[in-house]
Amino acid sequence: MIRGVRVLIVEDEVPLAKLIRQGLLQDGQLADVAVRGEDALWMAGATPYDVICLDVNLPGIDGFETCRRLRAEKVTAPILMLTARDAIEDRIAGLDTGADDYLVKPFDFGELLARLRALARRPAAAPRLVLRVGDLTLDPASHRVRRGDTDIELSAKEVQILEVFMRHPGEVLSRLQLLERAWDASYENRSNVIDVYVRYLREKIDRPFGVESLETVRGAGYRLRAA
Ligand code: CA
Repeated sequence: MIRGVRVLIVEDEVPLAKLIRQGLLQDGQLADVAVRGEDALWMAGATPYDVICLDVNLPGIDGFETCRRLRAEKVTAPILMLTARDAIEDRIAGLDTGADDYLVKPFDFGELLARLRALARRPAAAPRLVLRVGDLTLDPASHRVRRGDTDIELSAKEVQILEVFMRHPGEVLSRLQLLERAWDASYENRSNVIDVYVRYLREKIDRPFGVESLETVRGAGYRLRAA
């Protein structure tokens, strides 16, 4: 495990928060606890956390809203959502607010550590060239996406998937390839998540501009039409 990763735990069940914190400390990590979403916002604004562990069910603003506001305030730390609900819709809602991963309660502590480790290991956004496909541009460093001169508001996960397409313009990408590149490998089959995200992306990068750049290739996957 990477030593000295600083984790923000956002969890109102104090015994559970303490347990997670204790486990992280024993593992050589640093961990702070926020019991409310509002606290998490100012704490994450004041301290550069490497990863944020965010419970969905919180008093005051919930985990989804906290996540949305963190991203709106340009907090880029990877976010792992903890959800007590096993419904796929909740998971997708969490990811669409800018979370990077989720874990369903009750969870195995080893699993939590593994997920946090994987997220914290992701390289910080290094300055890279702006990707361009036709009049669509994506800056991997700032996550700024534009079509022509128009800025497009995308969630962190949507940007990640769009980035995969923009690095392979004109190529057919299978759902599995998209999953492997936009999520950490070896998770359960989430192919319907790709379909959902492609729908989200079309609504944002194509439909408002009257174009159909993100094509379905029947039986194979999806393709971002090259310029
Ligand atoms: Ca809770």
